Amino acid sequence: MSLAASMQDLKSRLKASDRMPVVFLGHGSPMNAIEDNAYSRSWTELGKALPRPQAILVVSAHWMTRGTTLVDVSAVPRTIHDFYGFPPELYAEQYPAPGAPELAREVVSLLASHHAEADDTWGLDHGAWSVLTKLYPEANVPVFQLSIDMSKDLDWHLQIGKDLAELRGKGVLILGSGNVVHNLRTMRWGGKPYDWAVEFDSFFAERLAARDFAALADRQRLGSLFAMAQPTPDHYLPALTAAGVTDEKDQLTFMNNSIDIASVSMRSFIFH
Ligand code: ZN
Repeated sequence: MSLAASMQDLKSRLKASDRMPVVFLGHGSPMNAIEDNAYSRSWTELGKALPRPQAILVVSAHWMTRGTTLVDVSAVPRTIHDFYGFPPELYAEQYPAPGAPELAREVVSLLASHHAEADDTWGLDHGAWSVLTKLYPEANVPVFQLSIDMSKDLDWHLQIGKDLAELRGKGVLILGSGNVVHNLRTMRWGGKPYDWAVEFDSFFAERLAARDFAALADRQRLGSLFAMAQPTPDHYLPALTAAGVTDEKDQLTFMNNSIDIASVSMRSFIFH
């Protein structure tokens, strides 16, 4: 199915839904924010297909904390250019969406058992704004971020998703942003994907479709293949949280099932 046809299909099915879908996007290079390519075009199309949310909660790979989970309660989140060596056009990008302070404080309470705390110093990192600028280019939907606690193991991040699930019925779009396979040490431009990258990406897709999230959150069982696919798991954790938000009633649609620069999976998914 072509991208346009699959988006049309998704759009017709989403209309029947009275709660918000859950989205995980592989974000890849920050340049996707300003380039016209297959990924950026797919985000534009997805934005048109999704029901309009009342607010967006983003779990980005790029807001890492240790020993705490922070929720950004700022009224006007700043656009953070958290990358080095890119062209000036990328540093000039701004995503001036308002924050959602009241809702963000509710999320702090919702995640009390995960020791969540309010924070007003973060804003929107490129994991969030590089995709939001294509999904919602008018920047008029309130948006706020949730950090990932790097001191906690995989299952913790799956559980956080479960605690966020009720927000779907309140018009909140939960958006995970990372990459299912993310090994920048081995990347090579124009290179064929590594066998281990393809293997882990396929394993992830298959277990996700089977709703066997426990298998995706068990580091022992994931073993050495996971260590290659995710030398540091920051880009993986938002996918677990997104999966945790879903339930058996959801249908799953994959998008951008390809591996970029040999070791970064752009695989994205929507539960709706
Ligand atoms: Zn990233």
